[in-house]
Amino acid sequence: MTEEAQAIPVVSYARISADTAKDGHGVDDQHAVNDQTAARLGWTVVHRFTDNDLSAAKADVVRPDFEAMLEALQVGHLADGQTIKGVIVLVEDRLTRRPGDYERFVEALTYDEGRVFADSKGSKDLYNEDVESMGLFGVVISKMEVRKMQRRQRRSHRRRAELGIPVGGKRPFGWQDDKLTLEPAEAALLAQAVRDVIAGKSLRSILLEWRDAGVKTINGNEWAHRSLKLALWNPRVCGWRKHNGELVRDANGVPVVGRWKPVVTPKEWMAIDAIFSARTGLPTKVDGTVLDPRVPNYLLSGILRCGRKNWEDSVCNAPMRASANPRFSGGFQYVCPSRSMGGCGGTARNGAKVDEFVTEAVLAKLEERAALAGPRVGPWGGESELERLKAKQRKMLQAWQDDLISDELFFPENQRMESRIKELRADQQRHALQQQRATERRDDIRERWFSGRLDVMQKRAIVREALHAVVVMPAGKGRAAFNPDLLVPKWRD
Ligand SMILES: [Zn+2]
Repeated sequence: MTEEAQAIPVVSYARISADTAKDGHGVDDQHAVNDQTAARLGWTVVHRFTDNDLSAAKADVVRPDFEAMLEALQVGHLADGQTIKGVIVLVEDRLTRRPGDYERFVEALTYDEGRVFADSKGSKDLYNEDVESMGLFGVVISKMEVRKMQRRQRRSHRRRAELGIPVGGKRPFGWQDDKLTLEPAEAALLAQAVRDVIAGKSLRSILLEWRDAGVKTINGNEWAHRSLKLALWNPRVCGWRKHNGELVRDANGVPVVGRWKPVVTPKEWMAIDAIFSARTGLPTKVDGTVLDPRVPNYLLSGILRCGRKNWEDSVCNAPMRASANPRFSGGFQYVCPSRSMGGCGGTARNGAKVDEFVTEAVLAKLEERAALAGPRVGPWGGESELERLKAKQRKMLQAWQDDLISDELFFPENQRMESRIKELRADQQRHALQQQRATERRDDIRERWFSGRLDVMQKRAIVREALHAVVVMPAGKGRAAFNPDLLVPKWRD
């Protein structure tokens, strides 16, 4: 086998522009150095691509040979059929004229396996992502840009110095005057409230409990909807903090952990954040109470369906509603609405007894399911993409802070990554919420149901999880004894 046969066919690329002309390397010079590089590496230059930007030094100038080279790399051969396996340039920044050029080049070169690349310093593996971002370094940065970046860096250093250190004002509810040590009783209340909200309890219910228990704010006032919500939504409860509405994160995008003792875990706070963020779309009263006209006060209103056949021999199926009626033991009944309200008006049942029976059936069903199945929410699928993006962003940020890449390259790329990371984080939060709920559900459901800590909305959510509806079959004329067989649950799978 001859050396000739082993030589790797590559192309040489040279470019001259107002900038590159200053370093004294004309295009012939550049190609000559490239030839030497090729010889050193055992490669053979089979074609020369040359661009001259001197005549049209506009930002949008097309470099015909650069574009031709990218095409050749894509197909793997030159117009005459000569196979090419790589590229040599004098220095990497000959490739980078506009943001995106370098990425396009790397993409074209690595389009196929086994391609090679070198500049006068030696060969580089462009399949390696580390080197890919290193390629962004070869950019000229003006003095002005450097000064701008240094200012930015000083600001960010100052901010970093502030991180994790509690700032002025009164102590927050849950912590002592040093703002670091927990005030045990208050911290326990906060933690319980966070977990209750995650489990679906309303802020109203929690407020009523706190008022009953005489819990006051640190100023000695009654808790209000808004103050309670802000206290629970403050990332401080899990050791994080917000600045201008955004979580304070380190260069890795990881939220900075403060020095104070946390009350709940970051996962729990993320669940709270997801719940409150999702709610902000609903109309609110002046005091911040979310107005939701659909909130019913009875366990099964709307869940019970009338099973009576009407005169056309079709089933009524209207959602039954609750109405107060002192004639019944529990003080209310479930009734089919009147004809004018879309029902048949022909079915009514003792509310308390229906609640009791359906509750028992639902709890038994859920316990049976819990025994059969483990947690249903699997691990989040976006972890690796998020980690990869964060690492990439970290690398770029570092390069930019070290003045190695320009604003023009850094900002657009960083913004692109930032928005994708935001999407992923939102998705991660939703997932954390689901997972948290799944965990809560698996805890002894019966014990929680009768603990007095669940409000009607929470209980309805649990019922709905178990069944679509309960059909109430007609009981016949007169005041027959309550017959549970006339209640037919439609279970979910
Ligand atoms: Zn009906």
